Amino acid sequence: MGYFAYLIGAVIVFVWSMIVQANLKYKMQEGAGLRAGSGKTANEVVEEMLRAHDVMGITIEHKPGNLTDCYSPKEGKIYLSDSTYGRDSVTAIAVAAHEAGHAVQDYENMALYELRQLLAPAAGIASRVGPYIVIAGLLVSSFAERSTSDIGYTIGTIGIVVYFIAFLFYLVMLPVERNASNRAFKDMKEFGWVSDDQLPIARAALRAAGDTYAVALASSALTLMRLLVIRGSRSSRRR
Ligand SMILES: [Zn+2]
Repeated sequence: MGYFAYLIGAVIVFVWSMIVQANLKYKMQEGAGLRAGSGKTANEVVEEMLRAHDVMGITIEHKPGNLTDCYSPKEGKIYLSDSTYGRDSVTAIAVAAHEAGHAVQDYENMALYELRQLLAPAAGIASRVGPYIVIAGLLVSSFAERSTSDIGYTIGTIGIVVYFIAFLFYLVMLPVERNASNRAFKDMKEFGWVSDDQLPIARAALRAAGDTYAVALASSALTLMRLLVIRGSRSSRRR
């Protein structure tokens, strides 16, 4: 039963992720071909947004590649990708403002942002190690005597708890990303970085990007479900 539910979930998430990716590409391209009404570049927008929120000491750098835009709190840098750095398209402005939004979150010590930063390194390890611990538990159970099969179950549970840190990270990431996009949209509107008729295009691009984090959360929930299936229930182990 658990395995069947997992399979259905896997198919749904797979199809959903395809739709989200296609939509993201479409929405990004739509705004990429439009010059922002203000005529400003992504770099100017970042500088303006940081200044408006009294964020200081952040530098902007070019990171070659596609979708490489990110804010690095450790380095105090905002990296902008090929299609964003120095560009004046609606998409470039929206993406740049979103990254500046993360810098503002950091500067304002937004609790969820801080939690995300705290979880990030642990989540990377947990997502890789957790599943192996669960499999190790399964192996212990299959080789152990009937009386000691509980040890395998316990090891499996530890693996699931470890993986849960990664799931928690994706859970926290979702509102943090939404918030960064909301900040970007608010300032885009207020400072007129894009014209009024371009605002819906900019918002759609940010929403499409935000959907990818919802997919990431769903697939993490799915992995959690799969690990629960692999570990099995205590009663089935005793058979
Ligand atoms: Zn973001």
